[in-house]
Amino acid sequence: MVKPRIRFDLDLLPVSVIANQWYCEKAIDLHYRHPKIDFFSPELALGTAEHELLSSEAKLLTEPEMKKLIKSGKAISLREVPFEGTFRGVKIKGYPDYVEIEGGNVLLVLDYKFSKHRRVFPSQRIQVDTYGYLLHRNKLNTKNLICGIAIISPELSSQFDIREDITVQTYALVSEMRRKKLDKVNYPKSPELFGGLMWFSLSRAERNLNWAIDYWTSKRRPVPTTKAQKCGGCSFNSAGLCRFALVAAETY
Ligand code: SF4
Repeated sequence: MVKPRIRFDLDLLPVSVIANQWYCEKAIDLHYRHPKIDFFSPELALGTAEHELLSSEAKLLTEPEMKKLIKSGKAISLREVPFEGTFRGVKIKGYPDYVEIEGGNVLLVLDYKFSKHRRVFPSQRIQVDTYGYLLHRNKLNTKNLICGIAIISPELSSQFDIREDITVQTYALVSEMRRKKLDKVNYPKSPELFGGLMWFSLSRAERNLNWAIDYWTSKRRPVPTTKAQKCGGCSFNSAGLCRFALVAAETY
């Protein structure tokens, strides 16, 4: 396959950037055109900062290492291990927070978000789905994969050991979901934790990637958000760079 030309001559696309296309694709476009202006998405900003901190020493697994792990047949839990893969010839890289593999089957992908918002955004769902796609590309079986999004209140974001508790709660939900054959489940209501789990769908992940990659390969123009509140707090709107802004930029 001829390597496609990616906008801004990028070599690879981070999964978090792809996910942010569902926040406002026009903002992603402006971010690469005006790199000195910060792109801020409240949905992903804190999470990205945490990932940078936590994955700075993470090691990319080579194909032989991955094969060795799969061949061992043992249950393995990986934290913040980067995965790479291609879609339509475009290289994609992501750092799922938590992945559980057993005998070549990926059973769970869990992503932590640090957010005051008590809802799961489309960009967050697409992010975990894209991790599922990368695991599939790494020759892992994703037929029984459950994807989870654990939204943690920002006050607790510095206490990383709470991840252990979340993992325990998640295992309970995964087991319930498999036992009762539920389509999705949510974490029990609490002020600290929000979110839930859903089954991975390869066709859904590929459909979303098709849409995202059409932009990166210049098959279509960037799509602006239809949510006026995003434009109000947008740094590109404040800088007068977006002609699609739905409202005037907020002033502080
Ligand atoms: S002003 Fe609105 S449409 Fe334009 S980049 Fe910002 S969020 Fe997107």
